[in-house]
Amino acid sequence: MSQATAPTPGTAPAGTSPEIGLSTDGLSKAFGGVQAVDGASVAFHHGKVNALIGPNGSGKTTFFNCVTGMIKPDAGSVSYRGSSITRKAPHRIARAGIGRSFQLCRIFPRMTVLENMLAAVRPHPLHLLRSSHDRGDIERARELLTRVGIEHLERVEARDLSYGQQKLLELGGVLMADPETIMLDEPAGGVNPALIDRIAGLVRSLNAEGRTFIVVEHNMDLVMSLSDHVVVFDRGRPICEGPPSVVQNDPRVLEAYLGI
Ligand code: ADP
Ligand code: MG
Repeated sequence: MSQATAPTPGTAPAGTSPEIGLSTDGLSKAFGGVQAVDGASVAFHHGKVNALIGPNGSGKTTFFNCVTGMIKPDAGSVSYRGSSITRKAPHRIARAGIGRSFQLCRIFPRMTVLENMLAAVRPHPLHLLRSSHDRGDIERARELLTRVGIEHLERVEARDLSYGQQKLLELGGVLMADPETIMLDEPAGGVNPALIDRIAGLVRSLNAEGRTFIVVEHNMDLVMSLSDHVVVFDRGRPICEGPPSVVQNDPRVLEAYLGI
């Protein structure tokens, strides 16, 4: 997963430049006439909670899709911990240590919570029907369900979970692959306040254990309280970045959001 020579996350002394984990250079992707991502060069801080914010349609999800190999960028490069992952297949990017969730939950509605956790690390969900579950995987799935707080629901079909519980299940599934960097697309969107607090607590504790986060989120209170570093997107590229206190007072950010 991580490279043996890579420094430990979060060890840079205060005042030195941040260690860069995931970065892009000139990343671009168009859909027909729409330039969804437009020459985006971004560097995320390793070992930290990074937020990627911006108005609807500013290209955040497309950026995530290009970085994680779900769609191929038209131009530009992506690197992670010093190695190029540009245009690599999603499973290879996952193997490099990057996990992600989706803006709209990607779970199997008619499978149970536990089966969904196992499916997260199996290439083909149909393998689950063969009752050849790896005991280690099941144990790990149960531990992670406890961690995200839905272990009591392991036999429940995913379609019967609340939306917030589905988000927690999805985060649990992401954790099954033990990713070093976790990309979350709107983890709090449509989730009730109690579960938003739980998701925020999970991000904090997982980060304290050394996992890097890159979070797309519209809930500004959450972004400002959770992040160490904020990147603001507008029209497919970053227009501003820095600590939350600096970004929230930047006139370019107000302009992008309010169109003034
Ligand atoms: P965000 O996540 O910031 O809301 P998106 O990346 O979803 O932004 O979208 C950026 C732009 O690209 C939007 O104009 C959107 O309509 C367009 N877009 C995104 N995905 C597709 C697609 N698969 N086909 C065509 N247009 C798309
Ligand atoms: Mg989006």
